[in-house]
Amino acid sequence: MAREELEAEVRRLRGHSASLAQMFEQAPSFIALLSGPEHRFTLTNAAYQRIVDGRDVADRTVAEALPEAAAQGYVDLLDEVFRTGRPHTATGARLDLQPVAGGAITERYLDFVYQPVAGPDGRVEGIFVEGHDVTERTRAEVALRENEARYRTLFESIEVGFCIVEMKFEGERAIDYRIVEANPAFVAQTGADVAGRWVSEFAPDLERHWFDTYGQVALTGEPAHFEHYADVFGRWFDVRALRTGEPSAHRVAIFFSDITERRRVEQRAEAGERELRLIADALPVLIAFIGADHVYRFANEAYVDWFFIPAGEIVGRDVRDLLGPDAYAARRPYIDRALAGEPVTFEMDWPHRDGRPRVAEIRYLPRRDADARVDGFHIFVQDVTVRVQTEADLARQVAARTAERDQIWQASSDLLCVANFEGYFVGLNPAWPQTLGWTDAEMKARPFLDLVHPDDVEATVAAAEGLSRGEAQLTFENRYRRKDGSYVWLSWNAVPRDGLIYSSVRDVTESKRQAEALAKTEEALRQAQKMEAVGQLTGGLAHDFNNLLAGISGSLELMQTRMSQGRMGDLDRYMTVAQGAAKRAAALTHRLLAFSRRQTLDPKPTNVNRLVTDMEELIRRTVGPAVHLEVVGLAGLWPALIDPGQLENALLNLCINARDAMPDGGRITIETANRWIDEAGGRQHDLAPGQYLGVCVTDTGTGMAPDLIGKVFEPFFTTKPTGEGTGLGLSMVYGFAKQSGGQVRIYSEVGEGTMVCLYLPRHYGEADEDEVARRLAEVEQAGQGETVLIVDDEPSVRMLVTEVLEDLGYTAIEAADSVAGLKVLQSDVRIDLLVTDVGLPGGMNGRQMADAGRERRPDLKVLFITGYAENAVLGNGYLRPGMQVLTKPFVLETLATRIKELIAER
Ligand code: ADP
Ligand code: MG
Repeated sequence: MAREELEAEVRRLRGHSASLAQMFEQAPSFIALLSGPEHRFTLTNAAYQRIVDGRDVADRTVAEALPEAAAQGYVDLLDEVFRTGRPHTATGARLDLQPVAGGAITERYLDFVYQPVAGPDGRVEGIFVEGHDVTERTRAEVALRENEARYRTLFESIEVGFCIVEMKFEGERAIDYRIVEANPAFVAQTGADVAGRWVSEFAPDLERHWFDTYGQVALTGEPAHFEHYADVFGRWFDVRALRTGEPSAHRVAIFFSDITERRRVEQRAEAGERELRLIADALPVLIAFIGADHVYRFANEAYVDWFFIPAGEIVGRDVRDLLGPDAYAARRPYIDRALAGEPVTFEMDWPHRDGRPRVAEIRYLPRRDADARVDGFHIFVQDVTVRVQTEADLARQVAARTAERDQIWQASSDLLCVANFEGYFVGLNPAWPQTLGWTDAEMKARPFLDLVHPDDVEATVAAAEGLSRGEAQLTFENRYRRKDGSYVWLSWNAVPRDGLIYSSVRDVTESKRQAEALAKTEEALRQAQKMEAVGQLTGGLAHDFNNLLAGISGSLELMQTRMSQGRMGDLDRYMTVAQGAAKRAAALTHRLLAFSRRQTLDPKPTNVNRLVTDMEELIRRTVGPAVHLEVVGLAGLWPALIDPGQLENALLNLCINARDAMPDGGRITIETANRWIDEAGGRQHDLAPGQYLGVCVTDTGTGMAPDLIGKVFEPFFTTKPTGEGTGLGLSMVYGFAKQSGGQVRIYSEVGEGTMVCLYLPRHYGEADEDEVARRLAEVEQAGQGETVLIVDDEPSVRMLVTEVLEDLGYTAIEAADSVAGLKVLQSDVRIDLLVTDVGLPGGMNGRQMADAGRERRPDLKVLFITGYAENAVLGNGYLRPGMQVLTKPFVLETLATRIKELIAER
């Protein structure tokens, strides 16, 4: 190459290089050349120096010059490029540098490339860095992105449906539109993801309304706001549409709100209002609402009937104007009250148009607003002409009826009254003062119980309690005190009603008096009859006793005669006669006492079978040969706790009655049995449940009619001719059975026969052996020195007893009264037994003396001898252990036996 050529080439090259250098220096991109694996800066241009804030990087490694960049991974990146020989391109990479002068970190965004530079041998020797500072651009982008995200969030989260549509026109006419964008609310409201689709695709039947409206917005830029029902979706929407973007884009932004619910509520309200209106118009009642300003806001059709103006013309008018001055003045006070918040009702004459009378009931009901202020009042006007007339009629009727009632009340001779449950009269008719003498005020002033006879108070209170439970008292009677202190009998007919007692009362004093008089007469009659019967009885007894006495005294006389004649051989016979008469007399007395029911019972555990067997012979003789007697004793019969003598007597009586019922002969059966009476049987027989002995006497005689059975236990009741029957037999049997704790029952049929059963209480234990009197001769002699004290005011009795005792070998001490007797008892004298009368002179009776004696001698044995029983004195028939009773008159043998037994008793 020629020199000039070369020089020219060098110049060219220099120029070239200079311009290159200049270009390099002034390049807008930053450029750096790094050499070696440590990335040492060998070349940087001005742009690069701006990137690194003018930091001096020449000949330094990247890690030394830019430690922050190393920390942010750029050195690793360089290492990678160096090692692999592959370039690396980055866009918007962020580099944070700490300015050398201090202050805030500078944040840069860079687009760059790391380009490996190979040496002659092809190995990587360095890295060429070239890039742009894109910080400004990146910042704007980030801001935009953030903005967009915010907007999108909003867009997506608002409940309002939002979409942007793009209209399609045919000339001026919108024929279709496409959903460019839609938020989730829009999608939800339309029920389909319609974004990007044409309406003609997904809603081919959409009404013109939508196209026209949106088309208008797109063409004119005039926003639209309307509510419309979308058939396609079956919903109501509130829609706002406005043009968006370039007018030529024909884009419309649309906001949708689903207002279906609201519309429904509104429609319902509208329907309700319509119905209400219908009802209001159909009612024959005038209904209106007047505001606080006196202006009609509502009036129903009925207004035509009352004001002769169509309802439509009423609303909006002032009430003063509509009514006219007079009618308004009449209503004014009520209107004022209603507007003051008070519901008012009043009646008013309001004639028909043709002048016929009409009565209106007018009601004003104040209405309150949300703040509870009265904002007007409702008016209800009703035609009450008929009701008013009916009421008037009724009132007339009631008045008439009341007058009638009043007349009854006033004029009734019955006592009529009303009382309250506090126990006071509240109303009394004039018959009361007439009957009782108290004035109306006097009677009302005090509790009515004050006037009730003290004996009737309890029953009256009970009746009042019945009334308070709602039970009418229809036959109640009590006595009321008159003002004069006397009493009247009142019969009450009382019913409780509405908390009061209504009574119709009769003065029954007179009829009561008559009934009482009748009862008294009857009682007197019965008494007279009884007296007559007693007279008969006494007559019969006197006769009997005369006979008996005659037998005794006759015998005695004869004995005396025979003795004076020295004819001792006949004495026994007379003695037997006298004794027989005395025995019969004793039996008679005994029976009388049994009848009088004052006999002392001396109950003992008794073997009834044995007693019957012992009686058999006596009964057979008594009933005579025409009557067959049969005794059926139950083996294993329980013992009975009874007085055996009484049972004998009863049996004899029953057999005599049986005989009398069989004048032509027949059969008597005496039967014994064990009876267990249970609850039901007890009720039937009037007995306590338990174990009893049955002793039944059956005959084949005339029998008794049922009404007769009811009477035969009455004392003196007899069907037998005067002189034959006393009427005392069965009453004695009855008395005995009842006193023994038992019962008598009669089973009888007319013409068939009769069975009389005695129920006697069982004794739990053994029967006493052989209670029948033994012969005196058989009685053993007394032990040595045994002493008996005899107290009796009757010397003959003392004498008799003393003789018996001495016969038996006892020592006898006599005393004539209780004082003397007690003295002996309180002495140290040996006393094995006290025999005493019950009725004694000396201030104490026999029982008291015996008890006093027992204080000193607790084991003192006592035998009471008594002519008649003094039950109370002797402890109501039951004696303490070691005490017995013997009824006068007695057979001496019996006395001896008793004495013997008592002394022998341990
Ligand atoms: P009396 O035998 O003295 O008449 P009762 O008291 O013993 O008195 O009897 C009263 C009445 O009962 C008798 O008059 C008789 O009419 C009637 N009566 C008693 N027992 C019988 C009987 N077994 N059969 C028929 N009637 C009897
Ligand atoms: Mg009789």
